[in-house]
Amino acid sequence: MKGFSTRSIHVGEIHQLDSVTTPIFQTANFLMNPSKYKVDERDNYIYSRISNPTVRAVEQKLANLCGAQDGVLFSSGMGAITCSLLSVLSENDKAVFLTELYGGTHSLIQKVLPKLGIQCEFFSIDDISVIPVNGAKVVYVESLTNPLLKLTDIELLSKIAHQNGALLFVDNTFMSPYNFRSLEFGADLEIHSVTKYINGHSDVILGFAASKDKDLISKIWQKMYTLGFNPDPFQAYLVGRSVKTLVLRMEKHNQNAKQIAQFLSNHEKVAQIRYPTLYTEIPECYENCPGFGAVVYCDLVTQENALKFVEGLKIFKQATSLAGVESLVTIPSLTSHASLTDEELKKANISKGGVRISVGIEDLQDLIDDIEQALSEI
Ligand SMILES: *Cc1c(COP(=O)(O)O)cnc(C)c1O
Repeated sequence: MKGFSTRSIHVGEIHQLDSVTTPIFQTANFLMNPSKYKVDERDNYIYSRISNPTVRAVEQKLANLCGAQDGVLFSSGMGAITCSLLSVLSENDKAVFLTELYGGTHSLIQKVLPKLGIQCEFFSIDDISVIPVNGAKVVYVESLTNPLLKLTDIELLSKIAHQNGALLFVDNTFMSPYNFRSLEFGADLEIHSVTKYINGHSDVILGFAASKDKDLISKIWQKMYTLGFNPDPFQAYLVGRSVKTLVLRMEKHNQNAKQIAQFLSNHEKVAQIRYPTLYTEIPECYENCPGFGAVVYCDLVTQENALKFVEGLKIFKQATSLAGVESLVTIPSLTSHASLTDEELKKANISKGGVRISVGIEDLQDLIDDIEQALSEI
């Protein structure tokens, strides 16, 4: 879609994108049309693991949102990450990863890739001048990290990757395609856990990868159906509906989270608060973003305080996911990062009193009142 910049997606435009009217379930029409069968022809719907019209309609809609030429939908965000990496990496290849990655991605890198003979090296977001990119095929990062909400300089990283002949893959889940479009700043592939903002209703697990390079997408699509990471068409149909309100949901997430971060930053019981609108400096590529999404991190110093706080909340529910319409809260040191030792937690700067809040789209004053009463109990 030409003329689509980071800030130009409006509700009307989303409605104008093809609506999902194709059949939900279609398995095989091969017998009806055997002469048209071609292996790499995605729009010939011969078998639903390979391609499906409902899935295809949603893929095209999401690719438009990401400013991409095309994309592939997967059975999960992890499926998207696995197929994307395996489509370009094989034995003896090297890839470079950000240290501060989603836990599931870390497991993939630690437990699976080395067994396939893929060499994995790491760099920290706090020191991107020393990336061991030499000889690497892929540099893999997240645009906004979990749970500390650090912003990765995608523009700079794409230059470093490309100067060294590597591709830049960006997991853009925490920003969403509404708040940030990594392909506009040089990323070669943008990945989403659709489970989070894009679906946004906590009732679907799906993943997506999008690119301006159709050949790369074709390779990733072939991995998807060969490994069997195909998405369920009914869940794809739900995403086709959910995405019509992406703009409205993101605007409300952005506003609510910004105000709650501001409120917490002035609260005496909060030792540290992290949310990008509070930072004095951010990488230039994020300067025109409409916002930074739902996730806010605050440090209440001790685990005892953190537990009292989350148990005192009435609207915010304790649950591990994020980016849905309902407000959720977790204590990373007890959940997503529970496997880390005290020393590793310290090194990662994650406090035992750290709380990750995913701010939903409820009434802002109700949310602030709830936080205030829960903090007053600690
Ligand atoms: C949730 C998440 C994933 C994994 O997505 P699933 O849909 O749960 O497989 C990957 N990356 C990030 C940043 C996530 O938050």
